[in-house]
Amino acid sequence: MTYVERVLKDLKERNPNEPEFHQAATEILTTLEPVVGKHPEYEKAGLLERFIEPERVIMFRVPWVDDSGSVHVNKGYRVQFNSAIGPYKGGLRFHPSVNLSIIKFLGLEQILKNSLTGLPIGGGKGGSDFDPKGKSDREVMAFCQSFMTELYRHVGADTDVPAGDIGVGAREIGYLFGQYKRIRNEHVGVLTGRGLSYGGSLVRTEATGYGLIYITEEAMKMCGDSFQGKTVVISGAGNVAIYACQKALSLGAKVVAMCDSNGYVYDKNGIDLKVVKTIKEIRRGRIKEYADIVSSAEYHEGCKNIWSIPCEIALPCATQNEIDAESARLLVNNGVKYVAEGANMPSTLEAIGVFQNNGIVFLPAKAANAGGVATSALEMAQSSGRMFWTFEEVDAKLKNIMVNIYHNIDGAAKEYGYEGNYVMGANIAGFIKVAEAMMAQGIV
Ligand code: NDP
Repeated sequence: MTYVERVLKDLKERNPNEPEFHQAATEILTTLEPVVGKHPEYEKAGLLERFIEPERVIMFRVPWVDDSGSVHVNKGYRVQFNSAIGPYKGGLRFHPSVNLSIIKFLGLEQILKNSLTGLPIGGGKGGSDFDPKGKSDREVMAFCQSFMTELYRHVGADTDVPAGDIGVGAREIGYLFGQYKRIRNEHVGVLTGRGLSYGGSLVRTEATGYGLIYITEEAMKMCGDSFQGKTVVISGAGNVAIYACQKALSLGAKVVAMCDSNGYVYDKNGIDLKVVKTIKEIRRGRIKEYADIVSSAEYHEGCKNIWSIPCEIALPCATQNEIDAESARLLVNNGVKYVAEGANMPSTLEAIGVFQNNGIVFLPAKAANAGGVATSALEMAQSSGRMFWTFEEVDAKLKNIMVNIYHNIDGAAKEYGYEGNYVMGANIAGFIKVAEAMMAQGIV
């Protein structure tokens, strides 16, 4: 049994009932075989065992009162996974599906993603099984205040800097920040994704979606290709999906489908993003309403079949495991050429295999969606320097970071003999920096 196999076996035995964590750890560790083969000192230092064990897991009760006076109790989580290269950094997810396995898979991915940005940020993730959908603003505020009343003692501008994720947008970040400031009496950059009036950064809202398109554009450029005139399918209709759509449209692509967790819309004339933004950002409505407003659109219940729509570029931007092997085969048979992951782990391991075996350019999440956390780190830099950069300045830095990530993962894949395999490239490039920092810091 190899070192990697032994660590994975041990991880599964010691963390039963954590399927998402097992999946992410398997995807990452199996690609690190050539690195640990080249560095026998890593095994001696128990490096992989330490790498896959979070430095700290915080779990807590979040009690809150709804508008009718009833008491609810949710679970709160913060996994402080790895601080070798900087303070823990990673989003908070509020969604009924949240559990420890999901937060640990996200936290593990985040370590490598943050490393790939080239910025000094460690990996962490958190959240709750609270569902903000259908709640009043007061209920969301009550929940966020209760969540932060526990979380505040574990986070800090130089310790752990959470941000948004699914279900945590500008409104939730505002309430969380307000409560932190009230308890600590400190106006500091403890959260990113803040509003522009209280320390936020321009481009943070757009960053993950824009970054996804910038890195895809660079990969396409290397193939002598561009977004101009291409047909694109984007899953999701949230923050990442909307701004990926906006940037793809600005580069001349035609986006024909988007979805939410109930179903998808197909618009053969190309999605009218203004309508999606009104439904999702202003009315907090359902994507179904798009077909009521735009006559050329069809609505279909359920999301899986969104991948049956022919396209050259597929951008999964909703949630984990939304593309299985069957959907991947459909995409390939229908002529997809590029798949770039906006969401975290949207493709199953089998789906990734289908893409790679068919010569599809596949950009994995930890590289492709790193623009969000990279811009969060730019927000941290502006906060600590009491500076405020223009939209153009931040956007240019974001684009530069994404282009660098592409060349970094491409270079690592080539160096280890896996040219074109960006899963290998991203894991190896991200891991090496963290491994070097961990080795330098001793057994901690
Ligand atoms: P949002 O909450 O803004 O949007 C999520 C979107 O995905 C919604 O349209 C949601 O629909 C849809 N969705 C959720 N679950 C499912 C499902 N099971 N099937 C189909 N659609 C679903 O989240 P974000 O856009 O911020 O995040 C999307 C993904 O991107 C996540 O994986 C997140 O971890 C990742 N990500 C986000 C970053 C960011 O900066 N925001 C940074 C890096 C990664 P509904 O409204 O019905 O729930």
